[in-house]
Amino acid sequence: MIKTDVIIIGGGSTGCGIARDLALRGIPHCLIEKGDFAAGATGACHGLLHSGGRYAVNDPEAATECISENMILRKIGVKCVEQTGGLFVRLPGDSKRFRDMFLKSCEEVGIPTEVLSPSRALDLVPSLNPSLEEAVKVPDCSIDPFRLCMLNITSSRKRGGEILTHNRVIDIIMEHGRCVGVRAQEESTAEVREIRGKIIINATGAWGDKVASLAGSSVPMTLSKGSLIITNHRLTNMVINRLRPSSDGDIIVPNEAVCLAGTTSMTVSDPDEAGVEPGEVDIIATQAQQMIPDFRTTRLIRVYAGVRPLLEADDGDDRAISRGFRIIDHKNGMFSILGGKLSTYRLMAEKMSDSVMEVFGLKTKCRTAELPLEGQEELRGYPISNRLKTLENIVCECELVTADDVERVAREIGARHIGDIQHRTRLGMGPCQGGFCTYRALGIMQEMGRMTPEESMRILREFLQRRFKGIKPALWGDQLREEQLVEGIYLGILDMEQEP
Ligand SMILES: Cc1cc2nc3c(=O)[nH]c(=O)nc-3n(C[C@H](O)[C@H](O)[C@H](O)COP(=O)(O)OP(=O)(O)OC[C@H]3O[C@@H](n4cnc5c(N)ncnc54)[C@H](O)[C@@H]3O)c2cc1C
Repeated sequence: MIKTDVIIIGGGSTGCGIARDLALRGIPHCLIEKGDFAAGATGACHGLLHSGGRYAVNDPEAATECISENMILRKIGVKCVEQTGGLFVRLPGDSKRFRDMFLKSCEEVGIPTEVLSPSRALDLVPSLNPSLEEAVKVPDCSIDPFRLCMLNITSSRKRGGEILTHNRVIDIIMEHGRCVGVRAQEESTAEVREIRGKIIINATGAWGDKVASLAGSSVPMTLSKGSLIITNHRLTNMVINRLRPSSDGDIIVPNEAVCLAGTTSMTVSDPDEAGVEPGEVDIIATQAQQMIPDFRTTRLIRVYAGVRPLLEADDGDDRAISRGFRIIDHKNGMFSILGGKLSTYRLMAEKMSDSVMEVFGLKTKCRTAELPLEGQEELRGYPISNRLKTLENIVCECELVTADDVERVAREIGARHIGDIQHRTRLGMGPCQGGFCTYRALGIMQEMGRMTPEESMRILREFLQRRFKGIKPALWGDQLREEQLVEGIYLGILDMEQEP
């Protein structure tokens, strides 16, 4: 049995941020995550560190939080925040009235803007639609959610935080009407462990209501699915937003070697049932083309979807719901934290940890805004070409990941899942989507004794099936040809269709 002070359920940006904050305040804690870090909305998001521009007109409170956190995160997280800058582009037919409201609202909440002529905008991003009317420059950035979570966890681990990934909370232990612990089941062994604590924090995002119900509580939220598409290369070095009221497919974010475009917004009832419909791919690609015409001919390498836990709204319009966050004290030893954004994860963690300190009657202040994220010295940072400095033994050509990187991660965290390697190195996240590097990484892990040859084959099969699910809705043109090549390699040459 593990005994601690605070049990955090959920290893997305919110849970990992809380673990770092509590660690820096000296509070013993245990974080439990059913998958790897960033397994939920955090790893399925757009990777935009908002300037707040997107929310300035309709949700000034969320916009204010965004700009203030943007300035903090670019300072404390230089190796996971790429300071790309962003443009809101106004295309023919887009309202000039909305543009005026946008500029006024940005000024009111303190978001710096600069209005650019079409030629100035095209100098910055030559791939933009040349018929744009104008653009507004804002301090948007691109952020790596996987690295962000790992770096937050580094601070927790360094100060004795217990971290259990691949462990699902299946039960909340109640005594005299109060939550006093949880039971968590390990994914591969099915072993159930008991963890006892004085406070439980439910940071499970879209799963928040399911987890709260284990303690007889509930969390009022609306679930909104958003889908995204990934291009096979980087079509813009700046974040591109459409200058109009928020709608489907109006943001493009450069992310290392690729671009992410999206999103849609559809109400769903179950966070585990969030697939991408082919119609959504059409909508996003069509909207993205209007801003960057190259989307018409660019290969889409994968699609994915995440589920946003939004504060409950009355009028049924998902986009009208505040992107702000809420902390609920269930008055039984459990708190739930929901809503918010990746961009405001640190602030959410600060407020949640303040509530914990109040319960414990302690006064230690939050330091997460001042101290740089720990562990960044080991990262190569931006631009991606920094990685060319290590050209030996490259296993993943798209993201320039070396055999040493794979071995180091496998050794450090005792990785037995290919996802653990991918999230920590970006292996397989580039244009080939793991088609050419996953089997090499599994070979390395098998040679290191982390798995048997049979296990590595099973993991490879599962990976290929997962990968195909994400690629299937975008299978046409060059991507279809690429997929036939991958199919030829795995089914034709390696005979993967046959069970060994
Ligand atoms: C499509 C989309 C695009 C987005 N784009 C952006 C963006 O560009 N910028 C931005 O700032 N925000 C964005 N957001 C919002 C942002 O992703 C979320 O607000 C944020 O990631 C939520 O983090 P979280 O930790 O609260 O939840 P999650 O990341 O969902 O984490 C919850 C975790 O709890 C775990 N869990 C669930 N049940 C259990 C259990 N029983 N036991 C143990 N663990 C459990 C899950 O596996 C999961 O890892 C986007 C959201 C979506 C859906």
